[in-house]
Amino acid sequence: MTEEIRCIGCGSVIQTEQKDSLGYTPMSALKKGEETGEVYCQRCFRLRHYNEIQDVALTDDDFLRLLNEIGTKDALIVNVVDIFDFNGSLIPGLHRFAGNNPVLLVGNKVDILPKSLKRGKLTQWMKERAYEAGLRPTEVVLTSAKKNSEMIQLLETIEKHRQGRDVYVVGVTNVGKSTLINGIIKATAGLQDIITTSQFPGTTLDKIEIPLDDGHFLIDTPGIIHRHQMAHYLGKKDLRLISPTKEIKPKVYQLNAGQTLFLGGLARFDYIRGENQGLIAYVSNELNIHRTKLINADDFYAKHVGGLLQPPREDEVSEFPELVRYEFSVKEKTDIVFAGLGWITITEPGIVAGYAPKGVEVLKRKALI
Ligand code: GDP
Repeated sequence: MTEEIRCIGCGSVIQTEQKDSLGYTPMSALKKGEETGEVYCQRCFRLRHYNEIQDVALTDDDFLRLLNEIGTKDALIVNVVDIFDFNGSLIPGLHRFAGNNPVLLVGNKVDILPKSLKRGKLTQWMKERAYEAGLRPTEVVLTSAKKNSEMIQLLETIEKHRQGRDVYVVGVTNVGKSTLINGIIKATAGLQDIITTSQFPGTTLDKIEIPLDDGHFLIDTPGIIHRHQMAHYLGKKDLRLISPTKEIKPKVYQLNAGQTLFLGGLARFDYIRGENQGLIAYVSNELNIHRTKLINADDFYAKHVGGLLQPPREDEVSEFPELVRYEFSVKEKTDIVFAGLGWITITEPGIVAGYAPKGVEVLKRKALI
């Protein structure tokens, strides 16, 4: 190659020799890319390709540069996730960017989950789900960013794993990363004065650098937006209503096949086939749930959305996306998750459907609780 070609995703120099190095692209893909004028390295191509269906935010070039830069460092990566929106807060492809760097997975907002849930079970569940997503965390820890005592423990765990390296804290927006960083600063008191910010090379993204006592830094990176979260379709007021601030009180509904639950006007759950069973809803205590007959559910929604079924409020209905239906066959104890809103646990086998506003993910996962 005489002339340097750069990946339009991450800016790395394209090369066709070393599969595991930055900028690798198979020769065939390079030729095709040159024809269309769009050359991506294989990493970015895959990420983009995957993102077209999974997530829009990650097509952002700045974000790819950020992750690429982290991948080139010898550092500990601390990935903060929101346990209440676990699936919505995983960063697709993080394991590819982490490279050989260890990842500490921090499950934040543990205070929202029922206290009866054992911490060991929760971290085990998180580890399994992370493995399914390709991420191999060195350790999984739980935090409630609002509690200072937990920040000290977290710092100790970070210290254990960083072994004289820098620490990069990454996470999607709304997982509580800022609260957590502020908690760390408070717990280590007096550091406020020496925090600096700088930019990731070639991006408009700021990083905040908090000095550690051995000349290394804890670096807070900008939050990444996950557009398939419910948060993007709601106003601030409604967002507050659906985001639990304290321990969730699970609600049990004894349902027969042919019955429907509406989660406000934001989501819908149909019990289509199966024995009578108790379904458990884990959503914000403030969100109203309505039960109705499946056969009338479409009409019921059309008539009551914005009224009895809120949020959205009446003046928001015209802008609110239509609900999209996803059907699931359930064989074992399963959660049907409405990204960012919560989930419904099904214990017995059956056929169910989940609905969420167009763009918001509905998925099935192994039950958390
Ligand atoms: P960021 O976008 O990741 O920086 O998230 P923020 O720090 O701005 O927090 C997002 C929301 O989650 C705010 O309303 C916080 O008050 C809330 N939050 C953050 N940490 C916790 C926590 O440990 N428990 C609970 N219940 N809420 C939290």
